[in-house]
Amino acid sequence: MTDSTIIKNGHVYDPINNINGEILDIIIKDGKIAEKASVGAKIIDASNMIVMPGAIDIHAHVSSQSVNFGRMFTRPHSQSLFTSSQIGQEYIKQGYTLFIEAAVTAHLARHTHLEFQDIPFIDKAFLVLVGSDAHVMDFLKKDKIEECATYISWLLKSVKGYGLKLANPGGAEMWAWGKDIQSIEKKILGYDLSPLDIVKGLVKVNELLNLPHSIHLHPNQAGRPGNINTTIQTLESIQDIDKSNKARRMELLHLAHAQLHCYGGEDWESFESKSETITDYVNLHEWVELDIGQITFHSSTAIFPDSAYAYYLAKLANNRWISNNIELEGSFGAVYLIFSPKQYVDAIKWTIGLEIALQVTNPWQVQLSTDHPNMGLLTDYPKVISWLVSKLARDEIISTLHTDAQNKAILPYIEREYTLYEIAIITRASQAKSLGIDIQRGHLGIGALADVVVYNFDPKANDPSKEFKLLEKALSHAEYVIKSGNPIVQKKIIDTNVFGGSTLWVDAKVNEDLEKKTLEKLEGKLERYASINTPNLSVDSSYLRNSEKIEIQSEL
Ligand SMILES: [Zn+2]
Repeated sequence: MTDSTIIKNGHVYDPINNINGEILDIIIKDGKIAEKASVGAKIIDASNMIVMPGAIDIHAHVSSQSVNFGRMFTRPHSQSLFTSSQIGQEYIKQGYTLFIEAAVTAHLARHTHLEFQDIPFIDKAFLVLVGSDAHVMDFLKKDKIEECATYISWLLKSVKGYGLKLANPGGAEMWAWGKDIQSIEKKILGYDLSPLDIVKGLVKVNELLNLPHSIHLHPNQAGRPGNINTTIQTLESIQDIDKSNKARRMELLHLAHAQLHCYGGEDWESFESKSETITDYVNLHEWVELDIGQITFHSSTAIFPDSAYAYYLAKLANNRWISNNIELEGSFGAVYLIFSPKQYVDAIKWTIGLEIALQVTNPWQVQLSTDHPNMGLLTDYPKVISWLVSKLARDEIISTLHTDAQNKAILPYIEREYTLYEIAIITRASQAKSLGIDIQRGHLGIGALADVVVYNFDPKANDPSKEFKLLEKALSHAEYVIKSGNPIVQKKIIDTNVFGGSTLWVDAKVNEDLEKKTLEKLEGKLERYASINTPNLSVDSSYLRNSEKIEIQSEL
């Protein structure tokens, strides 16, 4: 067990406990935030520094078989995908203590757990792709919501997943026929079911199971001009569904990498930002939240659990790509992408992410992301924060954009600058609430897990709006990072002797009879159509370095 530590005199930003920069001592004992320290506790002097809870990345692609395909593709650009140990180091350096791998197919979950074992320091969890799952679609087309929920509960428990991800719902099934979704109301080939039916059905399933995180949605038509209509229509289709009153979260839906889903225009010539349409919607509907998916003008291999979109991008860029179909479950594609401020479309895309973050009134509905490695890298977060806290920082970039983008963008007219308190919300507190883990994580109240970060930036002496470069530097490399009470970063030096890190997963309990009957039906199908049988799909706990099971009682 760890020693007791007192982090003294820091400016504490802890939004869950309404603490906004007050000078306080944070006491750590036995891996948790405590009221009293042990005799002889270690002292960390955080005078003139910022103290925050550990940050949480709610949407990144860092450990899956699709990431591994990306790693083997288009070197040296694929190096931005990082190795397992680099991922742990880059996260912990910035004060991140939990990430969510946003797209794992159940059949390949074992691979993700093996990568998780190899990522040091930080906690992790993953979302299971279910939007093109053949069994899900079979249940939903017969309107068997309860059986579908039972299957999902079994799937999450078997592969040790945390929540549900829908990427281009129904799209992987259409892709198997060499086609893409043209209309979200049109039936998917072979199924009497539309993409909208899948979204609605799985939102109901998610609520029936009382899952800690809402449905995590990458809507249809990602990245296409004019896709704002699809996004809004999708949101409207679920707005009357009741949210589980047993889940701690407020949300019914998490909109992933929102930047990619609010484009106007009919083609690339008339391409424009529709950030105001999405933010107006979010401002009126507290059950929607989003991560921004900010572009940072990087170049990288991008990975999408949506082969149709990867193919579309590859054709657009006239670049090579790679794709993989996973039987009965989904597909993914990787493609090399370059974003340039001198390109009109890329420049507008850069403004859209920031416009979204700055125009959603309630920061609790916003989460920072670059959809690593797709829109930017996880190492770019401090840079994105500098753009959010400083109009000056944004204006510096705006002056380098394609002239048409400078003239058409809304961003130059937005004056809002995030405060450090709001930054603490969109980098940790909002994520903890959204994931339903805000008792243990995302704050510094008594009893919380001792995930604490100290950044060397004095908010009394420096105005983040003017000193954004100083802030970016401080956030890029934390002075101290304590993970579950263990000091991992001290005076900017990472202690590589500590490994640490737990895997969070969800066991949503359902009625045993219903589970037995549902699985019996499934067995026959798996035997007939799948090359992996049920026992082999399951991932044993021994694959998890430290297992953190979250037990939920569902409505079934
Ligand atoms: Zn993503």
